[in-house]
Amino acid sequence: MSRIVYVNGEYLPEEEAKISVFDRGFLFADGVYEVTSVLQGRLVDNAGHLSRLHRSLSELEMDAPASDAGIEAIQNTLIERNGVQEGLVYLQVTRGAADRDFAYPEGVKPSLVMFTQVKNLLQSPQAERGISVITTRDIRWKRRDIKTVGLLAPSMAKMIAKRAGADDAWLVEYGQVTEGSSNNAYIVTRNGTLVTRQLGNEILAGITRKAVLELARTSDLKIEERAFTVQEATDAAEAFITSATTFVMPVVSIDGQPVGDGRPGPVTRRLRELYIRTALQEIGD
Ligand code: PMP
Repeated sequence: MSRIVYVNGEYLPEEEAKISVFDRGFLFADGVYEVTSVLQGRLVDNAGHLSRLHRSLSELEMDAPASDAGIEAIQNTLIERNGVQEGLVYLQVTRGAADRDFAYPEGVKPSLVMFTQVKNLLQSPQAERGISVITTRDIRWKRRDIKTVGLLAPSMAKMIAKRAGADDAWLVEYGQVTEGSSNNAYIVTRNGTLVTRQLGNEILAGITRKAVLELARTSDLKIEERAFTVQEATDAAEAFITSATTFVMPVVSIDGQPVGDGRPGPVTRRLRELYIRTALQEIGD
């Protein structure tokens, strides 16, 4: 049975879903996206994702394609029609279709596309074992705070990691880690301080990052929001990443060097457990 996807007002089998060749998402990567995880058939922290969607849209002077309630209704319809218990809903807004011109066209309707993916999020071998990362130069543009569909640089970084036999890449600029190719990056120093890069144009403000930092704060962990070097990361006691689909994922090796004892550390494991427990509580309410 094929998946039902949503395209500009219609629910269609994926083979029938089409978008114009003049769509600016296709021609200019002129579009933004969000990924919300699904647990027990319910959206996790969707309000945060919709609020970041608005920020991305407004930074690009793009209109919202529907109200928040309208978008959430479509997300929930897709979850239901595709029977998703665990996985994600992907949503993409582009400026729409117009004759090719660099300047933003006027009076064009934005395109809205959404689809679901089934994925094991709670139980994963990677979460048990931890992942390996390599570091590579951050060659992305200078507005990484906008969640655009211009994702070629992170795709290249993932391929560099894959060819090196690693699970993912951490991106480095001026000797400091910005973030992971599709996630935020953290270390726990040997004296137990949680360090992650401060928000700014250099990284994406992760919705999971916000939730995890709040949980860390309430657990009395010492937190420093600042840039850290690759050396600090390889010297750290623990390392991990966060994103909507990985939650809190341990990083157990960086550039082939084990982090700590090479196994997921206690702070990372506790934050993963806390994050999952809180997410399940929130969707249960
Ligand atoms: N940074 C980048 C570059 C990302 O692509 C993502 C995932 N979309 C994140 C951070 C994590 O954001 P979130 O927790 O909202 O998924």
